[in-house]
Amino acid sequence: MHAPEEEVVAASPDGRLRAVVVRDVDGVADTPLDYDGRVGTVWLFPEAQRRHGFGHDERSPSPHADVVWEMDRFYRHPYVDFTREQVLKHVVRRHGTSVICPLFMLDHSGIWLRLGRDMLADPTEDARSKGRFVGDEAGWDTSLIGFVLDSAAAREAHGLAAGSETVLEALREEVAELNSWVTGDVWGVRVDQRVEYAGPHVWRTAVFTGSRSCDACGLMPLDADDDASPCPGPDEPEWAEVEGTACWGYVGHDWAAQAAAEAMEELGAR
Ligand SMILES: [Zn+2]
Repeated sequence: MHAPEEEVVAASPDGRLRAVVVRDVDGVADTPLDYDGRVGTVWLFPEAQRRHGFGHDERSPSPHADVVWEMDRFYRHPYVDFTREQVLKHVVRRHGTSVICPLFMLDHSGIWLRLGRDMLADPTEDARSKGRFVGDEAGWDTSLIGFVLDSAAAREAHGLAAGSETVLEALREEVAELNSWVTGDVWGVRVDQRVEYAGPHVWRTAVFTGSRSCDACGLMPLDADDDASPCPGPDEPEWAEVEGTACWGYVGHDWAAQAAAEAMEELGAR
């Protein structure tokens, strides 16, 4: 989260190209809930969707669908008649779910998301807010905002075994991505090319003013009377964006850095 606003993440072996990652201050990335091919479905309670702009998971049942309603009622207003077993059984039956974890949000100088444990595998996972985030052990600023679960259809699409550690890992990664997005960890990438000077660094004297400057890089001599010393060239190499390489909306710095390096390698291989 504390990565600089602009960072060179890779350079080509010949030093001609560099890969750059830039923070996307406009936050133009789509919510990860719109991405295709996720293993997990995110069920958010309606006010979390509204208040925090998470968007709506297309595959999630409507906020009024009975399953969400039951989960909501049971886990936030535990005076209803259902038992935990009844509620979970209902979800498993309707969606072929093999892993279902509560999703928590810490809303305290920024927003952080965290997935709880699998409620089907671990009867001690009670979906309560206590002890979810370091610094908020009592759970005052932590709330249950929904659930993340797999479905038979998603497992089939990814070739995953029901209830496997791989399913759980996929859900964790997807929540980490959603967390990156909601905390503004969104980046753009581009490839820069070192500016090459067309001609040799030779002094040229202007016809009218008589002042001298380098024909190639435009530097002026430090000592106007020194005719003998050649132009030293710029102290630092100069860089210019390779047109068409800028691309925005990467969620997560690591992912952006990887994409930038790949774009640079592709360009270098041409
Ligand atoms: Zn020069």
